[in-house]
Amino acid sequence: MRELITITHEDCLGHDTGPCHRERPARLETVRAVIDRMGLPIVEAREADEADLLLGHDPRYLAALDEVFAREAHVDLDEDTHVSPGSRRASLLGAGGALQGVDLVLSGESRHAFVATRPPGHHATRTRAMGFCIYGNAALAALHALERHGLSRVGVLDFDVHHGNGTQDILWHEARSFFVSSHQEPETLWPGTGETSETGAHDNMLNLPLASGTGTQEMRAAWEIALARLDAFAPDLIILSAGFDAHREDDISGLLWTGADYTWLTEAICAVAAQHCNGRIVSCLEGGYHLPALAEGVEAHLRALAG
Ligand SMILES: [Zn+2]
Repeated sequence: MRELITITHEDCLGHDTGPCHRERPARLETVRAVIDRMGLPIVEAREADEADLLLGHDPRYLAALDEVFAREAHVDLDEDTHVSPGSRRASLLGAGGALQGVDLVLSGESRHAFVATRPPGHHATRTRAMGFCIYGNAALAALHALERHGLSRVGVLDFDVHHGNGTQDILWHEARSFFVSSHQEPETLWPGTGETSETGAHDNMLNLPLASGTGTQEMRAAWEIALARLDAFAPDLIILSAGFDAHREDDISGLLWTGADYTWLTEAICAVAAQHCNGRIVSCLEGGYHLPALAEGVEAHLRALAG
């Protein structure tokens, strides 16, 4: 079995968010350069189909999006979230790639899969696009594993600096999932959700708000508590929303994580995965907007996943 396979697609560069947008094609080019430099195996992402998207999205939302995409134009879905003629293809590859990662890992082809696509997914709710995200890639992957592969318990861990509100929305009532999100505290960072009081319909969620200005010590203490909860949950598969915008160099937030923190966290997650699910992890790229910091974080993450 391979330790790590990557899933990506050139057409994810065709999602054009405009000239001054943080979530830009150069991000994915940066990540792909890390993958190439490390010589990791690459498979092309496949598109999600309607049935895949319906696992986690409202049919009226999907119909409204189809109408937007059919215009093949530049359209603002909200003040942060824009689509272009290439966005339908890129978004479907992002969702499809996440599901494909689950298939590859559960078939035993690879212990770990890293899905390098854009747009990201963790802010997309059941009924709306927001925060640069169109489809809820990580949440869809979790539901795909539960509904179609028959797994009993899936852990979804989100270490992007923004709260994974979309994943939380989609999995809120899903007792077979356990969702953890660490993020800068809601009072000081968009989208303003992710309080500790948000625990899911079945006590299946754990939010870890971190104060601006905090770094290694606080993030590791918070995640040690979260991983103890995950250990007790005993997941059959772990899905990651891997954002690298908590890095100290990324000025979108005030957290001060380092490359070594991404190594530590990935290794700690791998240890729980080894204990409960033969190491199985599917990691989906989310944010990360300072290109050298993104490269450092991704490389640290991938080196830990590659063993
Ligand atoms: Zn983010």
